[in-house]
Amino acid sequence: KVPVPSDIEISQSCIPKPIDQVAREVGLFPDEVELYGQTKAKVHLSALERLKSQPDGKYIVVTGITPTPLGEGKSTTTVGLVQALGAHLHQNVFACVRQPSQGPTFGIKGGAAGGGYCQVIPMDEFNLHLTGDIHAITAANNLVAAAVDARIFHELTQTDQALYSRLVPSVNGVRKFSDIQIRRLQKLGINKTDPATLTKEEVNFFVRLDIDPSTITWQRVLDTNDRFLRKITIGQSPTEKGFSRTAQFDITVSSEIMAVLALSDGLDDMKKRLGRMVVASSKRGEPVTADDLGVTGALAVLMKDAVKPNLMQTLEGTPVFVHAGPFANIAHGNSSVLADKIALKLVGKEGFVVTEAGFGADIGMEKFFNIKCRYSGLRPHVVVLVATVRALKMHGGGPAVSTGQGVPWARGAVTVNLQLLAKGCSNLNKQIQNARMFGVPVVVAVNAFKTDTKAELALVVQLAKEAGAFDAVECTHWAEGGKGAVALAQAVQRASQTPSNFRFLYNLELPVIDKIRLIAKQIYGASDIELLPEAQEKVAMYTKQGFGNLPICMAKTHLSLSHDPEQKGAPTGFILPIRDIRASVGAGFLYPLVGTMSTMPGLPTRPCFYDIDLDTASGEVKGLF
Ligand code: ADP
Repeated sequence: KVPVPSDIEISQSCIPKPIDQVAREVGLFPDEVELYGQTKAKVHLSALERLKSQPDGKYIVVTGITPTPLGEGKSTTTVGLVQALGAHLHQNVFACVRQPSQGPTFGIKGGAAGGGYCQVIPMDEFNLHLTGDIHAITAANNLVAAAVDARIFHELTQTDQALYSRLVPSVNGVRKFSDIQIRRLQKLGINKTDPATLTKEEVNFFVRLDIDPSTITWQRVLDTNDRFLRKITIGQSPTEKGFSRTAQFDITVSSEIMAVLALSDGLDDMKKRLGRMVVASSKRGEPVTADDLGVTGALAVLMKDAVKPNLMQTLEGTPVFVHAGPFANIAHGNSSVLADKIALKLVGKEGFVVTEAGFGADIGMEKFFNIKCRYSGLRPHVVVLVATVRALKMHGGGPAVSTGQGVPWARGAVTVNLQLLAKGCSNLNKQIQNARMFGVPVVVAVNAFKTDTKAELALVVQLAKEAGAFDAVECTHWAEGGKGAVALAQAVQRASQTPSNFRFLYNLELPVIDKIRLIAKQIYGASDIELLPEAQEKVAMYTKQGFGNLPICMAKTHLSLSHDPEQKGAPTGFILPIRDIRASVGAGFLYPLVGTMSTMPGLPTRPCFYDIDLDTASGEVKGLF
């Protein structure tokens, strides 16, 4: 057999169709498409409005078993499945995937365009910059951060009256509130529109957000793995008069604005969510929002293009939306609601939209259902659960797989061991039950590696069926492209015909603790949860502030069903510790921290960037994977 070339070589060997042609093929009108060069375009939200009375296509979510740190092929399978459905079975299809962060592309993991003969192309455009959405988020996020510290500084150094005359300047002798200031007055219960009529006390209330610096949860962000920004001191210049504090940088994709982008269902909804984002508490214990800072409109302006999904294509010419890429731990890890909605209209009633949920089914899929589907109102038809022999062997007690610092596929000798494999299928079994709990049929995609034997692949298929999967299929799309996923695509077609009885796992009205306990017990297999004191205080605070009815977004390791990455298989009987709870009020969820979560990755000794190069004669990018 001919060895499979590198991802970038495959990507570059294929000439993409002009993107305006792809847009025409999927039924978009020229005035709904904004070209970004030859291979990328943004799609206007007006397309959704035009198609609003059309029926939606079938909605398929791709998830996985608990993975090794290398990933078990969800993105690759998402692309492989649409290539099979579209290019081989001639169905209307769309893949909806996340935009990757530049951090891991230059760090350890590499890009996320899929792999082998299942990729979104051109993969270098996909992995770097795209159309600038992540840059827009960085700009918007850091505007909020600057607004928080500047506001504290100005409030501390000025009298009420000085603040008032600057916040509501007199133009030709007349003071006038802006719209956002009128919103703030209304929030404070002051129903006045004439600045001249405010009492002294009302002026004090209006001009002082009184942010308690120890409660600031809003951080600065950057889309680079820069570990030295994990803890910093800001305000060290003498111009800040000693108002310095400890702060941190997070990676851009962990910004709440990314989660807002992913969950918004239109421009107006996005603006409202941006305005609702809570950045800190006041000294009186009230939440301080982006709207209070007066920054909502500017954020909406910075994000007005980012809200439009990006159209690209797969290696086999099927359409792809690449849109939003929130973290899968402290956020919900799913691509945008808007891309899914537009795609579902474009494919029509008989077509298929395949969307991907980050991490394993216990995290990404649970959040896809309980958060994303709850906000979007969309109902899934089929879950595709990706499994690999190597990860299942690890779950059965085999050696852990190492990322080998930028060298993909560096791992110990793989030996055939059916017993180990059968034991490890406990994880597959549990993840199948997790999907079935939501009332949606599950098709297991066994993503074949060249080291897997026929007996191993057959065993996984058999055990998946015994565990209650609608079907289980071996696939070879990584090595063969869409052709290798035709059987998977046919199984998905059959599964999509069965009635789905979708249900949520919990009602939003349940107390916060009960919602967390339900997820821990039912999805992870825990016997109970334990809230550490900090988490208990936050439950009380968020409930008092009126955020108790938000859905829950668990920030847990993806490397185990439990909180301990070393616990493989399907552990039971453990107590899940909840260290702290935070809120992304604008995006719309509370996120309990199970253990410590790094929101700023670091670079290893030999990062991926060692292999990345530009051929200055041809302009070709080399070494991305
Ligand atoms: P996930 O989305 O689950 O994190 P990806 O689809 O990104 O996983 O795959 C992770 C890596 O594994 C990619 O580099 C991809 O090219 C590679 N890969 C996926 N499937 C196979 C396979 N069957 N054989 C070899 N490499 C694979």
